[in-house]
Amino acid sequence: MSLNLLFANDTPGDYPHSVYADTRDPAPDRPALSGTCHADVCIIGGGYTGLSAALHLARAGRRVRVLEAHRIGFGASGRNGGQIGSGQRLEVDELEAMTGKDTARRLWDMAQEAKSLTFDLAKQAGVPTWRGIAHAARKPAEVAHAHAMAERLERDYGYDQVTALDRNGLQALIPSDAYIGGDIDHGAGHVHPLNLCLGLARLAEQAGAILHENSYATDISHGAQAGARSTIKTASGEITADHVIFAANGYLGNLNQQIAARVMPINNFIVATEPLGDRADTVLTQMIAAHDTKFVVNYWRLSDDKRLIFGGGENVSYRFPNDIRAKVRKPMLQIYPQLADVKLTHAWGGTLAITVNRMPCFARPAPNALSASGFSGHGVAMATLAGKLMAQSICATDDGFDVMSALPMPAFPGGTSLRWPLLVAGMSWFSLRDKIGI
Ligand SMILES: Cc1cc2nc3c(=O)[nH]c(=O)nc-3n(C[C@H](O)[C@H](O)[C@H](O)COP(=O)(O)OP(=O)(O)OC[C@H]3O[C@@H](n4cnc5c(N)ncnc54)[C@H](O)[C@@H]3O)c2cc1C
Repeated sequence: MSLNLLFANDTPGDYPHSVYADTRDPAPDRPALSGTCHADVCIIGGGYTGLSAALHLARAGRRVRVLEAHRIGFGASGRNGGQIGSGQRLEVDELEAMTGKDTARRLWDMAQEAKSLTFDLAKQAGVPTWRGIAHAARKPAEVAHAHAMAERLERDYGYDQVTALDRNGLQALIPSDAYIGGDIDHGAGHVHPLNLCLGLARLAEQAGAILHENSYATDISHGAQAGARSTIKTASGEITADHVIFAANGYLGNLNQQIAARVMPINNFIVATEPLGDRADTVLTQMIAAHDTKFVVNYWRLSDDKRLIFGGGENVSYRFPNDIRAKVRKPMLQIYPQLADVKLTHAWGGTLAITVNRMPCFARPAPNALSASGFSGHGVAMATLAGKLMAQSICATDDGFDVMSALPMPAFPGGTSLRWPLLVAGMSWFSLRDKIGI
């Protein structure tokens, strides 16, 4: 189990000490898998991807079991910035260059569906959401780009929810001297990410899915012929399944080499302040979320009890840094120096997954297996959609999975052993660029 991100940084079977874990909705302990059983579909991973797949498959009448190594929402889905962003991780002009206009349009429409699906499922589960994400730029060229994109989305994609902001307009929302303009996307929004995950779990169970916690899938064997079943083993049980869904994202390890070569784990860090009371207005004047234009992006939102939840800083390592507070406090104070006296009550890290081109990796690692991962920091909505697309693919009701799996998906250079050192070198260059402002 060494060098396995599933066990490297957290207490097994428990949530990290995040503000989300401390404020989560009640969640039952789910029993570990025990003995042998059969399922139509076995899903590995209890985050948005796996739970959304379970929900949609169970609603379509399939017998579904989810294996989660720790707790539901233990991974990125229970720890993230909660931002439900618009579009794909790549902007539409990048997508047009990569895929042509027709596919770019389909990808935009799918991302719109991802967003509305996420807001809708949160509503079904009784999880509150808030609207509005501000995008804060540091340089004139970035402001110009943001404004041009807002215009382009309205003109070519019919999306009229983005308002361009000059310095005064942005500072009316984000009272900080760090930024000189940007935009606000009224169609995007934010959520308590762990409660969204627990809400998806409740909906999946209501539809008939069976969820197992503390059930680490250690071994998967797929039959060689089409139509053959797979066998998935944990320490205390075994499932035979007609279909397998890999929904392990950054925590996949080497469970499947084909995916691992294309999807790289990377850690990102968040802090939460004590409740700010009236001072919350000096951070964000409305209940919106925000992120900036840095390569190592800063992102933040207010919780409903008016804490600042601020994410910034990442590393490419099996280990989280010893002092996450200090790492994240630094960019937080660059934006909000007035918070120097504020106590950081929580600091935690999480592992997400990126791909070479920053589009998610949808793949069929075996004839009866599907996988979606590598959402590249843009997975709250897209992972939720990914689960639905995999369910639809198994039920043969939509071709969205095939559209995503046809995207170019190069392997990281260096294979699974050398890719981390190469990425560390690349990331250091970009974070240096952020620091010296070029
Ligand atoms: C700090 C941070 C901030 C982020 N901020 C945002 C944001 O604001 N907006 C946004 O859109 N995206 C954000 N992301 C990305 C987003 O959280 C992810 O893309 C999304 O949660 C991925 O969901 P998932 O279900 O695929 O993976 P995960 O939620 O990571 O779930 C994978 C699960 O699989 C389980 N697992 C793995 N291997 C096994 C196994 N062998 N057996 C059993 N279980 C296993 C793990 O325990 C884990 O619970 C952020 C990520 C991080 C880490």
